[in-house]
Amino acid sequence: MVGKLARWLRLLGFDVSYYSKIEDARLIELAEKENRIILTRDHELINKARKRKSLQERVLLIESERWEEQVEQVLDHFKLREEINSNSRCLDCNAQLKTLPKSRAKNLVPPFVYEQASVFVLCPVCGRVFWKGSHFRDMDKKLRRFTRL
Ligand SMILES: [Zn+2]
Repeated sequence: MVGKLARWLRLLGFDVSYYSKIEDARLIELAEKENRIILTRDHELINKARKRKSLQERVLLIESERWEEQVEQVLDHFKLREEINSNSRCLDCNAQLKTLPKSRAKNLVPPFVYEQASVFVLCPVCGRVFWKGSHFRDMDKKLRRFTRL
C-alpha cells in the first residue's frame, strides 16, 4: 500500500526499508533494532508499535491513498524538506549511489545517452546506472514539487 511512497522517499534521498509482506512483530523488532520510523496504512500495526516506548514518536499512519499526498504528509510531519538530497539513492535497493566518471559510463549506457548526459551515477548493489538528461525531466519536475520550501 505504500510501495510507491517508499520509492519516492528514496528518490528524495531518504534511507527507506520496505516490506510488502512481513509479520507485524518482526517489523516492529526491525524498526527498533535499526532505529527506523514506521510508515503504514495499517491501524492495527500502529497500535501495536505505539505500545513500545522507543517507537511511540516513531510511527505515522499514512492517510491518503495517493502517493503524492503520502510523500507530502511524511515530509511535513517529520519536517524533512530541508534534508532532501534528490537522486542520491537507488530506488530499488536503497543503497547510496556513487558518482561514475563519464568515461566509465560508456559501456554501461546506450550510446545516445552517453552522448547527451553528463552526470552518471551507479548503484553499487544492483549495478544500475542512472543519469541526468531529458529522460528524467518529468521526474525532476515531480521532485521539484517536494523540494519547494
Ligand atoms: Zn540498486
